[in-house]
Amino acid sequence: MWISILGCSGGIGPGNRTTSILVDDDILLDAGSGVGDLQLQQMGKIRHIFISHSHLDHVAFLPFLVDSIFSQIKEPIQVYGLKETIQALKDHIFNWIIWPDFSELPSKEKPVMQFNEVKPYEIKTIGDRSVEVVPVDHIVPGIGFIVTNKHNKSFAFSGDTSTNDTLWDALNKKDSLEALMIEAGYPNSMHNLGKLAKHYTPQSLGEDLKKLKHKPHLLISHIKPGLEIQISEDLHKDLKDYQLTCIKSGDSIFID
Ligand SMILES: [Zn+2]
Ligand SMILES: [Zn+2]
Repeated sequence: MWISILGCSGGIGPGNRTTSILVDDDILLDAGSGVGDLQLQQMGKIRHIFISHSHLDHVAFLPFLVDSIFSQIKEPIQVYGLKETIQALKDHIFNWIIWPDFSELPSKEKPVMQFNEVKPYEIKTIGDRSVEVVPVDHIVPGIGFIVTNKHNKSFAFSGDTSTNDTLWDALNKKDSLEALMIEAGYPNSMHNLGKLAKHYTPQSLGEDLKKLKHKPHLLISHIKPGLEIQISEDLHKDLKDYQLTCIKSGDSIFID
């Protein structure tokens, strides 16, 4: 199972793309600006899009994606999210003002995309992979995803979150967690802002990691541009017992 990081930054700027992860060539986790680097042909192969929450850095390129592949696809792309997330997309983006409602185009009977509500702990099986929905704790309703391949090996993506128990409990139930893409958006010095915006700092992440029985490779994401050095210093202090990489768009891992 290939995991390709299209975007994982907490902002924009040269080389920075916002959150989007391609699993093999047909499943997308979030649709941030990283999607814009795909070739048109690659975009056309995406069949399932899981959205972690409604924030713009995670959904901004969904409208452009469905518009770009409009003429290429024969079956609707399936878009999955919490009820609140789907409602937010309908109300605030696909509302015919910001963007046309592609869940009704070219016709209601055969649209370019279809929304699917998912509930916490629901598992969707797609080919020989499964995607489990895990609730997390963000400022809007949010979920993470655990993607498991045919050999029962898993990749997990936290979405945006602060301190919680749900993600860690779900991860502890997995037999083999190979890699965990987890956010650490703010440095320890911005602890209060992190708490307010419900993002981890290296310190609060380090505390939560004590709940995890696995020692997966940590792929640190959602770092705010301009704070990379500060966050990296904090990570090496607070997470020194872990194998970790501050990932960037273009990185990929293969889970056998
Ligand atoms: Zn967010
Ligand atoms: Zn975000």
